Amino acid sequence: MIEIKENVSLTGLSTMMTGGNARYVVYWDTAEDLKILVTEPQYVDILAAGLKPVGEGSNLLFITDDYRGALLKCACENVCKISEDEESVLFEVSAGLSLDELINRCCNSNLWGVENLSLIPGTVGAAAVQNVGAYGVEFKDVVVGVNCFDIEDACRRYFDAEELNYGYRDSLFKHESYKDRMVVTSVVVRLSKYPIPRLTYGNLAETVGTDKDNICKIRDAVVRLRNNKLPEVGIVGSAGSFFKNPIVSDKHFEEIVNCVTDRGIDASTMPVYDVLEGKKLSAAWLIDKAGWKGVTIGHAGVWPSQPLVLVNIDGQASGAEIAGLASEICRDVKDKFSVTLEPEVEYL
Ligand SMILES: Cc1cc2nc3c(=O)[nH]c(=O)nc-3n(C[C@H](O)[C@H](O)[C@H](O)COP(=O)(O)OP(=O)(O)OC[C@H]3O[C@@H](n4cnc5c(N)ncnc54)[C@H](O)[C@@H]3O)c2cc1C
Repeated sequence: MIEIKENVSLTGLSTMMTGGNARYVVYWDTAEDLKILVTEPQYVDILAAGLKPVGEGSNLLFITDDYRGALLKCACENVCKISEDEESVLFEVSAGLSLDELINRCCNSNLWGVENLSLIPGTVGAAAVQNVGAYGVEFKDVVVGVNCFDIEDACRRYFDAEELNYGYRDSLFKHESYKDRMVVTSVVVRLSKYPIPRLTYGNLAETVGTDKDNICKIRDAVVRLRNNKLPEVGIVGSAGSFFKNPIVSDKHFEEIVNCVTDRGIDASTMPVYDVLEGKKLSAAWLIDKAGWKGVTIGHAGVWPSQPLVLVNIDGQASGAEIAGLASEICRDVKDKFSVTLEPEVEYL
């Protein structure tokens, strides 16, 4: 079923809770609904406004007061078992289901694979686009394939996980020719019947304690760790990590180490991870060392217990104000450490 709402407040459409209105929000359930939307003449105005698939808006920043396009939101939350063998179960999950609800159900059924992603806001559809990750696990680890509706060709498409070029917070859906063209309708995931605890990241093992094969204890530990450092969704406006962790070449890394040392900071305290392209750095550490932790400008601020998170302090910040704070941080980190930060959050 298609339901269209006009002039909807943006506050409830993104976790950053900035103001203004969206011209149209189109709620849909199935690929057939999307076909009707893009082919039938009665929807021509909506089509002309421009279609943008969204989930819960937990990775979006509306930077203008009003959004003039049409936001496409999947209202369907079905979970359907496709098959089962000795080791695993295959499910098709509708794009509109909350990722955390899926994780909750998996943990209650003792099905392994997504427990480390507990409490990441957003929908299953977006998780497959974003390749969300936390505590050493990425959503791609369980994705078998993704069903989509192609807005341009008005047809269904299926992509195997191998075709999706998954990377760090990245997939085929985030790139030019497919971005905002492929609407994810459902995701096929494989979950393990056997315990596969992954507890090596940070202090997860310590927080879980002794019962390491208890999936619910792992979920509880992840929830506790996240609640200690992140703002609560719906209470404080945020979009999670605002910037990506920068990846730099080995040569560039040497230059950064010199900048850090020149500022009187012990470079051995800088978190560094070896990756294929060179070194992955911690954006949170750089922002902290540049002196931004807890800083506020107007109604926008840097979250004190996690400087990678920018917040709408009192619910009064505009998108432009938050974007302004983000560019000040980028400029300063570049000046001080010669590192270019890139937003992980999408500006609309
Ligand atoms: C407090 C907080 C903590 C967070 N922690 C993490 C974390 O630990 N790890 C992490 O990876 N992320 C994290 N995030 C970011 C965010 O939760 C993810 O990016 C999430 O996947 C966004 O889901 P969403 O449904 O809100 O999508 P939206 O923000 O609405 O959209 C995100 C992108 O996906 C596209 N999209 C959404 N639905 C569809 C669809 N059906 N078809 C095609 N494209 C679609 C949108 O066009 C957009 O480009 C956090 C965010 C918050 C607010």
